[in-house]
Amino acid sequence: MSITAKGWKNKSGTGERSCRCGSWKQHWINYSNEAWPDTCTINGCHNKATLGAHVYNSKVEGEYIIPACDSCNKLSCEFDLKTDTILVSANKSKTCEA
Ligand SMILES: [Zn+2]
Ligand SMILES: [Zn+2]
Repeated sequence: MSITAKGWKNKSGTGERSCRCGSWKQHWINYSNEAWPDTCTINGCHNKATLGAHVYNSKVEGEYIIPACDSCNKLSCEFDLKTDTILVSANKSKTCEA
């Protein structure tokens, strides 16, 4: 899956959302087929990735989960992702509740 790394935003008000995976971090692990990364996937950030953040992009359909740190999860401006970031669909009907 090749998706632009540019121009992502946090989806606000997703803190109370949950899924069958137990956490969005676990959701990302389950559907990325990758190990959880050591660092946040927001470009230029070197903090530890602690949670699965909901993000969206005006040029991309749907919402996605990315590994992020607490402070990036609170960004209200647009940000870019590291180029090798794997985005997992946040759409439960396409993933854990399909
Ligand atoms: Zn899930
Ligand atoms: Zn970060």
